Amino acid sequence: MKNHPKYERTLVIIKPDGVQRTLVGEIIRRYERTGLKLAAIKMCVPTAEMVERHYTLDPEWRLKTGLKSIKGYTDKNLTPPHTDPLKVTEIVLKNLTKYLTSGPVIAMVWQGAHAVELVRKITGGTEPRTSDVGTIRGDYVLDSYVMSDVDGRAVRNLVHASGSVKEAEDEIAHWFKKSEIMDYNIVSDKILYDVNLDGILE
Ligand code: GDP
Ligand code: MG
Repeated sequence: MKNHPKYERTLVIIKPDGVQRTLVGEIIRRYERTGLKLAAIKMCVPTAEMVERHYTLDPEWRLKTGLKSIKGYTDKNLTPPHTDPLKVTEIVLKNLTKYLTSGPVIAMVWQGAHAVELVRKITGGTEPRTSDVGTIRGDYVLDSYVMSDVDGRAVRNLVHASGSVKEAEDEIAHWFKKSEIMDYNIVSDKILYDVNLDGILE
């Protein structure tokens, strides 16, 4: 039954600014209160290799991110730093590496029905300036591409969350050993995934 929706898993990383701003508890609370279950957690200072590998697990990521970034500039009538999307991504990746290796991060695996989609919804859109109110990125940080470009750094959006089930599988394997991920029951699973609701009344 491991293909039941309740076994879906996703990776979340609280980035160094989230740890520095003592938002770890608040961020965990937001995922936890939905009924998602924490399956793994650890603190580490990522190496540059860890970060670069993380973003390039998807061989298309460099091209997609470059194209998305160029579109972001042209939509605002701004000139992109390069016309070549791969060159644009080189800058993004260099800045991201500096950001993510600057201090400890919290890496977590969350499990439950639609874990990938739910965690993305709670996390909010990539650029905090436009992330919805009520999301982590919308509520707890005020950064923007304009400001991060002026300062020549990565946009600080507090958390990473996997973008698809496939991405989640690859990223979880990148950050965690199998033995670090827990298979266990919590009492709330009983009601969240109960089929007949026949275990409540005495
Ligand atoms: P996420 O899944 O919402 O984090 O976004 P992506 O997977 O598209 O991008 C990963 C990271 O690359 C983001 O968290 C940003 O730090 C950075 N990034 C993505 N798109 C852009 C962009 O258009 N401009 C800049 N400056 N950084 C970007
Ligand atoms: Mg992503």
